[in-house]
Amino acid sequence: MDSPLDLPGTPRRHFLRAAAAAPLPALPALAALAPSAPARPAEGARWTGDWPARLKDAVERAMPAAVAWARPARRPFGAVLVDAATGAVLAGARNTTEHNGDMTAHAELTLLREAAAAGHRLPSCAVVSTAEPCAMCAGALVWTGVRAVAYGTSLAALVAYGVPQIDLPLTEITRRSPFTPPAVARGVRADLTDPLYRPSAAPQDGAP
Ligand SMILES: [Zn+2]
Repeated sequence: MDSPLDLPGTPRRHFLRAAAAAPLPALPALAALAPSAPARPAEGARWTGDWPARLKDAVERAMPAAVAWARPARRPFGAVLVDAATGAVLAGARNTTEHNGDMTAHAELTLLREAAAAGHRLPSCAVVSTAEPCAMCAGALVWTGVRAVAYGTSLAALVAYGVPQIDLPLTEITRRSPFTPPAVARGVRADLTDPLYRPSAAPQDGAP
């Protein structure tokens, strides 16, 4: 035997012919990894928890304001605070990590700090974010007892677009919490938020 491939009963030429004839990976599997095609939750799976019709409408109407907060940031993540009773946008914030060197200055965390300073009662509010909150912000959202969280682009989609993320979904953090979890809505106005993170958009190298 002069090669590991020259096994008894498996002549080398036969082995090579068999390898050449092996089927290639199917194209649909490769297409699923393409940055332009992140997975989307089915409509029925998008809203979990208590979402009265008025609150659904309010967070959808508020997303353009969150996108407006995000656009000027080098890392274009934005969030707004919505009064769950009236639908009014009470405050907004963007990621400022590139401006002040504070890598915890994500949009949601800054929004929660400003909301607390302004005296807003978070169990009566919804946070609307352009992207799924990272593990740090998700923990903070749970600690504040915020009523609901709605986001546009998912962590999985951010990763598919080439934006590095800690792979820990918001719902996994709420599931492990002993506190009343916020209602969660996914893919809200993703038609507006996805373009912020596509590879053709501004340079991306950070978390929300
Ligand atoms: Zn974050």
